[in-house]
Amino acid sequence: MSLLSVRQLRVALETDGRRLEIVRGISFDVGAGGFHALVGESGCGKSVTAMALTRLPPVDGADCGGEVLFQGRDVLGLRGGSLRAVRGRGGIAYIFQDPMSALNPVLRVGVQMGEALPAGMGRAAMRERMLELLAAVDLPEARILEAFPCELSGGMAQRVCLAMAMASEPALLVADEPTTALDVVAQKKVLELLEGVCRRAGTSVLLITHNLGLVARHADTVSVMYAGRIVESGSVEAVLGAPAHPYAQGLLKAVPTLEGGGVEDLATIPGRVPSPADWGRGCTFAPRCPHAMPICAQVDPPEVRLGGSHAAWCHWVAGNRSVAGVG
Ligand code: SF4
Repeated sequence: MSLLSVRQLRVALETDGRRLEIVRGISFDVGAGGFHALVGESGCGKSVTAMALTRLPPVDGADCGGEVLFQGRDVLGLRGGSLRAVRGRGGIAYIFQDPMSALNPVLRVGVQMGEALPAGMGRAAMRERMLELLAAVDLPEARILEAFPCELSGGMAQRVCLAMAMASEPALLVADEPTTALDVVAQKKVLELLEGVCRRAGTSVLLITHNLGLVARHADTVSVMYAGRIVESGSVEAVLGAPAHPYAQGLLKAVPTLEGGGVEDLATIPGRVPSPADWGRGCTFAPRCPHAMPICAQVDPPEVRLGGSHAAWCHWVAGNRSVAGVG
């Protein structure tokens, strides 16, 4: 059984008196000890999906449908204290994009870390545990406990957030664009630490990112999201090795490589993700797709199984498979 099983999740938010469906029937799994990535451009619904897993604001009051099973419990059906239990010890922990807004600027790091530890620990045991957690994220100095967040670099602050998240010994860590606000060197260090700490602890990870390079380096499985839907999913090896969906192909061509030319040689996907108010029938990627056909704007794309857990949702892929006599 998966640690986290998401089936046909739908999330609708009220905006300016209008009901907008931001997540439109997505399904994915995160296995025990696994590292799954949700990847796509900004505005695809990745973060709303992450918030829906424990009904964090602004999704707490949202209209959610489908099923989110975490350790066998249906999270969408939980309320109040039961929901807090899912967010607490051994449950789901989060780290977010901007560590400086996640930390309280007027409290020392030690005070904030102490709040994340189990109640009833003695002072000496708390200090020892905090130093252990900081050492695991390569911050071995005791002086960090006395520091205010403004005295830390962005990378150090994010490592403190990771240490605090791990204090609750979560079964699942949701990392929502955890390195976007950091410089390239800090990005690499934080992601390497995150993966190392979680793999050693047996903590599963759901990484939300727009960066396929991070997915290739760290994740086991990936779901590519576009306009509130998953358009391709499978093992990282399958999806990044042979992307089938035109959007996944476009994202991969936009990743810089050492062998490739300069940034000016990188491919881009024309246009941008439309506003949820404009997500209608058919394939929402059609206006940007080099393979769009008349049916694409009218009929929702079919699921095409590509071997193992690899699947894509696309009329063009379906046509290619049936021409090849496989689909
Ligand atoms: S369904 Fe059509 S528009 Fe959408 S990605 Fe496939 S070919 Fe392109």
